Amino acid sequence: MMVARTGSAVIVGVRARPVTVEADVSSGLPGMTVVGLADAAINEARDRVRAAVQHSCAEWPRTRITVALLPSSLPKRGSALDAAIAVAVLAAGRQVPSEAAARVCVLGELGLDGRLHAVPGVIAAALAVRGRSGLRLLVPEANLGEAMLVPDLDAGGVRDLDHLIAILRGDAAPTDASPQPLADPLTSGPDLADVRGQVEARSALEVAAAGGHHLSLIGEPGAGKSMLATRLPGLLPPLGDEAALEVTAIRSIAGQLAPGDGLWRRPPFVAPHHTASSVAIIGGGQAGRVTVGAITLAHRGVLFLDEAPEFARSVLEAMRQPLEEGEVRVARADLSVTLPARFQLVLAANPCPCGRGLGDGADCSCSSVQRRRYSARISGPLADRIDLRLQVRRPAAGALGDDGESTAVVAERVRQARERMRARWHGTAWQVNADVPGPALRRDWPAEERATSILSRAVARGALTLRGADRVLRVAWTLADLADRVRPGSDDIARAIALRGPEAA
Ligand SMILES: [Zn+2]
Repeated sequence: MMVARTGSAVIVGVRARPVTVEADVSSGLPGMTVVGLADAAINEARDRVRAAVQHSCAEWPRTRITVALLPSSLPKRGSALDAAIAVAVLAAGRQVPSEAAARVCVLGELGLDGRLHAVPGVIAAALAVRGRSGLRLLVPEANLGEAMLVPDLDAGGVRDLDHLIAILRGDAAPTDASPQPLADPLTSGPDLADVRGQVEARSALEVAAAGGHHLSLIGEPGAGKSMLATRLPGLLPPLGDEAALEVTAIRSIAGQLAPGDGLWRRPPFVAPHHTASSVAIIGGGQAGRVTVGAITLAHRGVLFLDEAPEFARSVLEAMRQPLEEGEVRVARADLSVTLPARFQLVLAANPCPCGRGLGDGADCSCSSVQRRRYSARISGPLADRIDLRLQVRRPAAGALGDDGESTAVVAERVRQARERMRARWHGTAWQVNADVPGPALRRDWPAEERATSILSRAVARGALTLRGADRVLRVAWTLADLADRVRPGSDDIARAIALRGPEAA
């Protein structure tokens, strides 16, 4: 009788948790039992693993085999544990050295012919293994490029089960670094220069990018709201190393990373349709199968809700917590998981149900009740977090020829403004102006005196609520940062009030 073990990992939410796979080969009727909260796919592993071993150079133990997946309290899903189960069984049957099996973390789905197939979530597993000394990560060759994105990691690629056996016996080396540098899948996006004649809207987009402000775009169909929103990620600073790994790991878990894809340096842009389910947007699932939603896919990037009033009220309500905390908790009977969801929100809506209610609304065919009900759908749960409310109009025909600045030019101003913010908020929990609570701004970072008194007067005569004034202050700071002014002046305040839009809230 012999017990052997090897390492592997399972994905829970967007992180990998280490799993130890133990195999016990003992006398008794031939057969294999898997214990430790395994789902159906892992139970099917018995057949895949046995077939793969029978096609390999090794022998399948003709005795009783018990495989334990530890910790047993952790629900396990998918087929990524196949290769580790095979290694543990072969080590317990003395087909490969058990010391070698104990020093590796193996991922991969086995084909019946013994080939090792790619699995999702390899970056997350690599991040979990990184820093555990003496442990080598072995992944399917198709996943090697992904594993190599994580620095300081001893990782190797495996073709098939025979290759894996030879590596553990010391007769072969794993495939090492993939030869070609991997491409950023998002190096080029749509350019701001394509947006003609929308001077005010382009400028508001720049302010949103610089200060990290959530933005709503109100305008009739065809006014160019989506065109503007899709250009926001290009204006944002590229993701740093750790953020890029985090975002790429989420793509990998969601199965959205193609072989050969590099790190995602560009902040993601995610635009769920309003008919998408709550699970698809917020995240969820059952029995340990946690699905990441659009708000997690938009982590460190932009979430665009087109036709926002059409989204289910419950979905809009569920966004309140991630907007406050940058994460969403998905609680299920067997598991509670926290998923990252720190995104910049862009809402787009028609001015009213008929779409023609902007300006004097002379062509609008909606009743006042219809209009109120429509705008209340987004103003309720989310309004407090939205600093910028922009009315987008179709550009005048003559303006269409105007050449606008390119994404690169505007992104450079955004970068400089962000540097000023970083210097000012250094030592606080805030990264961008949109993070700073109004009371802190009023107390510790006052605007110019004349600017402050303009704001106080607006509040005193009821033109602005106190909360509205806080939003104006945040935006005014971003305007000052973009113009390299030490603090907001009265012009910044006036412009920020205009950018806040006409709605009272
Ligand atoms: Zn209308």
